[in-house]
This record gives sequence, C-alpha cells and structure tokens, in this order.
Amino acid sequence: MSTIPHDHPRYASLIAREKLVEGIEQGIVSMHGLIAHGRGEAFDYLIGERTTHAALEAERVACAHLIRARHPIISVNGNAAALAGELLVRLSELLAIPLEVNLFHYTEQRAERIASHLMRLGAREVLTQRDAMIPHLSSERGRVSSKGIYAADVVLVPLEDGDRCEKLVSMGKVVIAIDLNPLSRTSRTATITIVDELQRALGNMLELASELVDAPTERLDALIQGFDNDTNLMESLRAIGHHIAEQFR
Ligand code: ATP
Repeated sequence: MSTIPHDHPRYASLIAREKLVEGIEQGIVSMHGLIAHGRGEAFDYLIGERTTHAALEAERVACAHLIRARHPIISVNGNAAALAGELLVRLSELLAIPLEVNLFHYTEQRAERIASHLMRLGAREVLTQRDAMIPHLSSERGRVSSKGIYAADVVLVPLEDGDRCEKLVSMGKVVIAIDLNPLSRTSRTATITIVDELQRALGNMLELASELVDAPTERLDALIQGFDNDTNLMESLRAIGHHIAEQFR
C-alpha cells in the first residue's frame, strides 16, 4: 500500500490519507469525506495529535453508556469505515452492538460497499435498511433503520453532522460523537463528545470497554452521572490552548 517510511514525523497522518484515498478508489468514501477529514486533521494538529485527559474521560463514560444501553447502535459512514473499519467491528463484537451504515451523501451502491467491507472485516450484523425517518430532517438525510438508529437508546456516531446529531438528541437518545473540533455543532449538541482522532478514540475504547464490561452497574452509573459534556469540552479547548502555548516556550 504505502511507501511512506515508518520514521516519517507525519507517518500516522499520511497513512490515514492513504486509507481515505483507497476508500475513494473502492467506492467507500465520498469526495466530501476528504474535505471533512481535512478539518479534522487541522484540529488534531492543534491538539497535539494525542489523546487528552478530557478525551480519555469521555471515552470511558461513552463505554459505560454503551454497556448500560438497552438498545445501542454504532453508526458507520464512509470515512469511519475506511479509517477504522476493523476497530469498529471489534468494538461491535466486544459489546454485541450492531453496526448501521448511515451516510450523509447517500447512494445505495456506496452503502452496500461499506456493508460488504465491514462484513469482510468480520462484522456479524450490518444494518442498511432505511425504513424509518428521523423526525424533522429533510429527505434522504433522515432515513435510518427502524431496528437500528431509530429504535436505539444509545447511538455511537463517529463523525456525525451537527444537524442530524441535534435531531437524534431531540428524539431522547444518548448520542456519543467522536469529533476533533470541540466547537462544531455536533460537539456542542451531543450528549457525550469525544474530542479525539477516530482511530485513537476507538483503540482506547476497546481497552476501556474490556475493563468495564464486567464492572458493577453502580460503577457504570456513577461514571455516567459524574460527566458533564460542556465542562469536558472546555477542558479540551484548554488542552488545545496549552499545546499551542508550549510550541512557543
Ligand atoms: P457541524 O455540522 O457539527 O458543525 P462540520 O460541518 O464541521 O460540523 P462535518 O463537515 O459534517 O462537520 O464533519 C467534519 C467533522 O468531523 C469536523 O468537525 C472534523 O473535526 C471531524 N473529523 C474529521 N475527521 C476526523 C477524525 N479522523 N477523527 C475525529 N474527528 C474527525
């Protein structure tokens, strides 16, 4: 795949770009996805390409929600499938949570390709039906599976659009977003926002979920109740400020 040397200072970032370009070639990623990724990269640079303390806390609480949920679902778009398909399948397997393909720029062909990609990576169940509507969302963007996102009490939506995130929250769902921009509408409307790069976040969540899966419910509920998203977002913004200040010391 790649001729990028392992010791290149921007190795991880360059590999992510290669995965997305491959995703375009395989018909998994949309052109718009490349632009969205660029915005994420810019914020990752500002945050120092590391998991902050605030992000780790949000990742832990997100796992507690997913474990306590009655009907959780993991929503997968093109970028998420291309960058972190394997991690998403592993999380889905570990916590027995189905995956649902959910695209902002929907085409049936792209949805089917993403589902096949996830199945090849070992997914057991990938929902692609679009037989229910998120209320107050126009046309294609609102269509979801009645057995998945529509019925879910907890939704993990890596890289969600702000408008749709807001509508899912209005439906009474716990929405867990992964978004490197702490100021995006998604970040500010989600129940839990993980301000971390998608692959780092999911890698951490796999470890945290393994630790917490057998934890007593009181511990999980205490984690959930002790979390405040706005406070956590402020901490992420402060972490960005500290990182920038350090560059000029
Ligand atoms: P919103 O609608 O929420 O205000 P937006 O218009 O910026 O935000 P989109 O363009 O739909 O959102 O999605 C891009 C978002 O995804 C950006 O906020 C970007 O920071 C984030 N993002 C992109 N790639 C990654 C990644 N690999 N990991 C985490 N976040 C990412």
